[in-house]
Amino acid sequence: SIPLGFFGGIGGASKSGILIKGSNYLEALNNVDTVIFDKTGTLTKGVFNVVEIKPQIKYTNEGILEYAAYAESYSNHPIATSILKAYGKVVDKNKIESYEEVPGHGTKVRIDGTDILVGNAKLMDRENIAYDKVESVGTIVYVSTNREYCGYIVIADEVKEDSESAISSLKSIGVKKTVMLTGDSKTVGEKVGKQLGLDDVYSELLPIDKVEKLELLELQKSPRGKLVFVGDGINDAPVLARADIGIAMGGLGSDAAIEAADIVIMTDEPSKIVTAIKIAKRTRKIVW
Ligand code: ADP
Ligand code: MG
Repeated sequence: SIPLGFFGGIGGASKSGILIKGSNYLEALNNVDTVIFDKTGTLTKGVFNVVEIKPQIKYTNEGILEYAAYAESYSNHPIATSILKAYGKVVDKNKIESYEEVPGHGTKVRIDGTDILVGNAKLMDRENIAYDKVESVGTIVYVSTNREYCGYIVIADEVKEDSESAISSLKSIGVKKTVMLTGDSKTVGEKVGKQLGLDDVYSELLPIDKVEKLELLELQKSPRGKLVFVGDGINDAPVLARADIGIAMGGLGSDAAIEAADIVIMTDEPSKIVTAIKIAKRTRKIVW
């Protein structure tokens, strides 16, 4: 049977916007060794804005943005949302002949006989597009049409207000290591890692690479310590399911992530992980 104190802990957590799906997860929160964060939508707001457009000589800003908007019109990735917002016009979806979203890469569409690719350097490399790789502290979205490179769009995101304090508080309550995994570029990943005081950052990862990194971090932790993964869920369901404790941001997060997670943070604030660990420690004192 489940000791009564656990119900108090789970109930208390839910009042703080933290949904814990079982007393075993509350108990496990007492032994957190490593907290692994996704970047976009988890430590950053996931609200991107287009800050710059750089067309190649034959193209215009408006042209590039239009291609990108069409390519992103079926995506609910935060990058897609920012491009559609910057475009500001209605996308005529009847023109779209085919559409494919490639997780961790971008999108591929065909409109009126034109093949459009919109995504990161990985997508351009994989499709053998001759483009110029750009290093920037913003997220770069490259655009090509009919295999010709057209230019790029720079998109900026900001860190959440409480990310930095959440990471330092985790350290002060005994978490040994904090890590960020991101599909974004090395330049962006390292900038955010430094800004927030994370111990390690791994960049340019595909969803499947995130599982592999988690398994590597599992080998490095203390034997009985628990591994937490925190994600907003867009593409993160496999790694959420693989962690000892998978925590999803419930506000921005996808249904798949909420399903795969053991704990859901309804307010999307990373500091709620600190709150959850504190509740777990108080509950243990009452139960045992
Ligand atoms: P993170 O790991 O930071 O949460 P994701 O795994 O969601 O990021 O995406 C990783 C990278 O893949 C993004 O930084 C972006 O470069 C690219 N990407 C993914 N989806 C899209 C999309 N719909 N449009 C453009 N780029 C995308
Ligand atoms: Mg994400």
